[in-house]
Amino acid sequence: MTKTAIYPGSFDPITNGHLSIIRRGLEIFDNIVVAVAINSDKKPLFTTEERLEMIAEVVSPYPNVSVDSFTGLLVEYVVSQGSNVILRGLRALSDYEYEFQMALMNRRLSRDVQSVFMMTDYKWFYISSTIIKEAAQHGGSVGALVPEVVEKRLKQKFAKK
Ligand code: ADP
Repeated sequence: MTKTAIYPGSFDPITNGHLSIIRRGLEIFDNIVVAVAINSDKKPLFTTEERLEMIAEVVSPYPNVSVDSFTGLLVEYVVSQGSNVILRGLRALSDYEYEFQMALMNRRLSRDVQSVFMMTDYKWFYISSTIIKEAAQHGGSVGALVPEVVEKRLKQKFAKK
C-alpha cells in the first residue's frame, strides 16, 4: 500500500524551509501532495496560480510530489486525496501553539486523519515566507533562502510595485 501525505500551507512563496520538509517527508511517505490553501481572509503577495507554478517548478525533480490547491476543510480535502496524513513543519517555539490548535481542531473534525510534524533543519529555523517577503521588498538578497525561481519572481513582483 502506498502512503500519501498532504502538505498544506500558504506557500506565499515556497522557501527552502518548505522544500526541506518535502525532501525529508519523502523519506517517510511514498507520495506528497503540496496543497496550497486558498484562504480569502489572507492577502497573499502571489496569486494562487503563481504559487502553484513556482512550487511545480521547484518540485519537478521529485516524481512523487504533486501540487494542488484546495478550499474548505483540510481534513475533507485530505480524505478526498485518498490520504489520512497532514504533514506540517515545525520551526521556532512560536509555531507550536498555532500548530497544536490546528491539529486538535482537525482531530475533532476527523478521527481518521493524523497530523505529522517534522522539525525543520536548523538552517531554516527562523525562515518564513513573511520575513523573506519583507527582506525582498526592501531590496535585500534572499538567494540563499529560496529556490532560484522564487528569488526571480520576488524581484519581478517588487520591481512592479
Ligand atoms: P501556513 O499559512 O499554513 O502557516 P506556510 O506556507 O507558512 O503556511 O507554512 C506551511 C507549513 O510549512 C507549516 O507547517 C509551516 O510550519 C511549515 N514551514 C514554513 N516555513 C518553514 C521552515 N522554514 N522550515 C520548516 N517548515 C516550515
